[in-house]
Amino acid sequence: MSASLIILLAVICLGALQLWWRWRFGRERRRWRSEMAKRENLEMVAAAEARARQDAILDSMIEGVLVLDETNRVQFANRTFAEMFATIGALSGKTVMEAVPVHEVAEIVERTRQEGRVIDQEMKLAGNSERWLQVNAATISSVERRRLGTVLVFHDLTRLKRLERTREEFVANVSHELRTPLSLITGYAETLLDGAKDNPEVATKFLQTIDRNTRRLDLLIQDLLTISALESGRVALNCQPVKLRLVIERNLADLRTQAAARKIVLVNDFPDLTAHADETRTEQVLSNLLENAVKYGREGGTVRVGGRKTGDGKLEVFVQDDGPGIPVEALERVFERFYRVDKARSREQGGTGLGLSIVKHIVQSHGGRAWVESEIGHGAKFFFTLPAGGKVDG
Ligand code: ADP
Repeated sequence: MSASLIILLAVICLGALQLWWRWRFGRERRRWRSEMAKRENLEMVAAAEARARQDAILDSMIEGVLVLDETNRVQFANRTFAEMFATIGALSGKTVMEAVPVHEVAEIVERTRQEGRVIDQEMKLAGNSERWLQVNAATISSVERRRLGTVLVFHDLTRLKRLERTREEFVANVSHELRTPLSLITGYAETLLDGAKDNPEVATKFLQTIDRNTRRLDLLIQDLLTISALESGRVALNCQPVKLRLVIERNLADLRTQAAARKIVLVNDFPDLTAHADETRTEQVLSNLLENAVKYGREGGTVRVGGRKTGDGKLEVFVQDDGPGIPVEALERVFERFYRVDKARSREQGGTGLGLSIVKHIVQSHGGRAWVESEIGHGAKFFFTLPAGGKVDG
């Protein structure tokens, strides 16, 4: 074989080898590439799923969450945060002041940068309705202790603050209401001891005042206990069929003397309907409304009780008088604890300021509603609803 033939064969062999090599490793490379692409794809899908899960968790939190990057720009804000601060549009990438123009938030971010964390900082947001927030903030750091950003968690304290305020007002009101009759009792008792007891006429008058104020204290304490039991939900209703007309009749009979003293005519126009209610509590509602109608109604006037069955399975009862009525701005407020239109008149007539609040509680605990319609000078008409008694009246 000639040398040139050997070289030719060698070149052909090498070419074939190269072709085989390319084909073999090209296929491997393609397989490897597609494996990598698949893996990357899977990782991306997994990362997207993890992010979606994390966002869903953060969005379902009742706390507002704000995450800032190392330049104090928004990286993430959850739904509650956006609602709390009523932000508009996407927040991502904005500075704190652009995202929420509230100085207190910017100050907390700055303090967190300096101190590492801020705990239980309270802040009040001014606006249409006052809101209270509690903020906890902390720096996010890398393992090498490099600051990566800040996380702030906002907790809405508004409801708690309102409850706290209501409780404080209630305690202040109760103390005031108790102090008035108590100071009268002590004052008159001291005057009697100082010598007034020796004058029978004066002594009788003073003892009557003491007696009246002791009763007022007793009434107040009874009403306070009722309110506290109703509000705590400790009162279990014993609901049964109640013939309302008979309950109204009994209440009116109890009031005859009081009504006669003011020459008031009592009328029972309530039809023969049965409610499904707690009878004792229903009596309490009626007696509060009827006592008020006789107390505040027109001397020589009429107090009428009536009602009907409504389309939604309820009985609607009204107690109407033809007295001075209630100003429009007080129509809702008369149901609040201790609210009185005419404070002096209510106290003078032995009112505790709790009667209508008790009415509202009892009616609501039956799933009903209590309200009043009135026009100044044309009397007041108090309404309440109770569940109808079902089969009894069809
Ligand atoms: P009070 O013990 O003062 O009567 P209530 O809670 O029963 O307390 O009533 C609250 C206030 O509502 C009363 O102080 C009175 O100003 C007003 N009010 C209630 N009923 C009537 C009525 N029939 N007519 C006019 N004002 C009324």
